[in-house]
Amino acid sequence: MPHDLVLADIRLDGEAADLGIEGGRIARIGPPGTLEGAEALRLGGALVIPGLVDGHIHLDKTYLGLPWRPHRPDGSVAGRIAAEKAERQAIAEPMALRARRLVDHVVARGTTALRTHVDVDTEVGLAGLDALLALRQEVAGLCDIQIVAFPQSGVTSHPGCASLLEEAIRAGADLVGGLDPAGIDEDIEGQLGIVFGIAERQGAGLDIHLHDPGELGAYELRRIAARTRAAGMQGRVAVSHAYALGMIEDATLGRTAAALAEAGVAIMTNGPGPEAILPVKRLVGEGVAVFVGSDNIRDAWSPYGNGDMLERARLVGYRAALLTDEELRLGLDLVTKAPATVMGRECAIAEGAPADLVVVRAAHVPEAVASAPARELVIKAGKVVARDGRLV
Ligand SMILES: [Zn+2]
Repeated sequence: MPHDLVLADIRLDGEAADLGIEGGRIARIGPPGTLEGAEALRLGGALVIPGLVDGHIHLDKTYLGLPWRPHRPDGSVAGRIAAEKAERQAIAEPMALRARRLVDHVVARGTTALRTHVDVDTEVGLAGLDALLALRQEVAGLCDIQIVAFPQSGVTSHPGCASLLEEAIRAGADLVGGLDPAGIDEDIEGQLGIVFGIAERQGAGLDIHLHDPGELGAYELRRIAARTRAAGMQGRVAVSHAYALGMIEDATLGRTAAALAEAGVAIMTNGPGPEAILPVKRLVGEGVAVFVGSDNIRDAWSPYGNGDMLERARLVGYRAALLTDEELRLGLDLVTKAPATVMGRECAIAEGAPADLVVVRAAHVPEAVASAPARELVIKAGKVVARDGRLV
């Protein structure tokens, strides 16, 4: 029986193979020259890797496609929030259009699933969420989208936010967000009580932005771990950034990592330049689920970011000293299997797995992570959705 589509003459991390796709899934992996398809693409020994997964993006914030907007310098998180609100007034193009442009942009670079945060506060209400819920339907054949209701303006310090977050989950957001319980709200247990309460009542996951530094941030991480265990939410809670883990003394790092691993709390990094890099290898060695995302892509928070998750793996790998072949393979995991697992998704090149695949010119995975070559093909659920960096 011929398959719907065969990727012929490919490499799977060094091994020559053919790969047959049926009904959107990988049906068969066989030796080269053994599979037949209704359609066959001969790929001349190119490497096939899993579809890339962006574990943390802000589709609603991007200025991509607009005329260049100079970055307004302000180091503090609170200052950036204020600058962003001021800028938001000046942008005429609807957010839905910018978000769609960014989805197209990242899909062309191999992203087949992503977790986006969307601002929820008393100024924007649920308008951003509604736009992204509609977008999720619109792009279902290109990319799977998970949505975090993100309290960018604070929780206990922003009256009305708690009920909006709960409404956001009822309206279709998948996860409750949080933001610097100490640094923004100055009320660690207050904010955590609210966001864990909503998550428990609504059966939602949690993904908390935590920029709070040093011992303070590490203490908050251990409180999040303790609350995760108490709520029985192991495997459903993530903390994004957690810069503190790159700033604390070894013994504190050890017990904080142990608490995170035991509670199944995952840690997202995008490897931002000005911050201390997380000890990725150490955390993974201690059993912590580490995953990677883009975070900001040309928005009020950063003029950088291009949504290219293979390049992001290269950047995090460069900063976190992923050097041996085994460590470079971990680099690919950080932008494929690790974020997919956090999002409750299957991600593997194996018979039965979803046929979300990316084709690049590299001999094997270590070379692909070290060099981040261009994406020749992007396949979503068995269909070619992008070729040579452009949507088809
Ligand atoms: Zn973020």
